[in-house]
Amino acid sequence: MNFQELMSRYKLVKVMKAMEAAGLNHGTAGNASVRCAEHFLVTPSGVPPLKLKPSMIVKLDIKGHSKSRYKPTSEWKMHVDLLAQRPDMNAVVHCHSRFATTLACAGLEVPSLHYMTAVSGGLNIPLAPYATYGTAELAQSIAKTLQQGRRACLMANHGQIAMGTSLEEAFIISSEVEVQASYYYGTLVIGKTVCLSEQQMHDVVVKFKSYGQNGSKPPS
Ligand SMILES: [Zn+2]
Repeated sequence: MNFQELMSRYKLVKVMKAMEAAGLNHGTAGNASVRCAEHFLVTPSGVPPLKLKPSMIVKLDIKGHSKSRYKPTSEWKMHVDLLAQRPDMNAVVHCHSRFATTLACAGLEVPSLHYMTAVSGGLNIPLAPYATYGTAELAQSIAKTLQQGRRACLMANHGQIAMGTSLEEAFIISSEVEVQASYYYGTLVIGKTVCLSEQQMHDVVVKFKSYGQNGSKPPS
């Protein structure tokens, strides 16, 4: 095992514990993956984040073959297909966070009610159509929703998924998706949602591209 793979295994454990600490996970529901040269490192099936160790991380090829004694997350295919489709991205996190999942169970996407919805890479946070967990159909639904430029979406009757150039970035986007979902839920409870216009959101997307040291991070 080379140094890069070892570091990636530690980072996967770290991001799963961070998701747990942030309240994004429910039991063993969350999972994550990161590109590792021609392979993919994914979290194992059924191991709670607090018991996860770097040696339990599963290394897969694009067809899901592995030499690990641990079984990969049952949702490995949507991770691998997404990373294969998006060479500009290196990491994926998925969880059943409370507000994102609530909206996804109501068949709702998050509209452009706050400028930070642009972290999804578009003007809203879209909703991917439902398919059974772990199936090729679900992987296709997510891959179709997260085309070029998109970074996050809700998953109908299931949860949310986010991607980034690193695990840290994917985690930040996933956290922001949950916050945006909570804002939208709140406005639905109040009974009034005021959305930004397409032009106002386009202005934010342009600003995001030139923000920070490398132009890739949105403002906080
Ligand atoms: Zn799931």
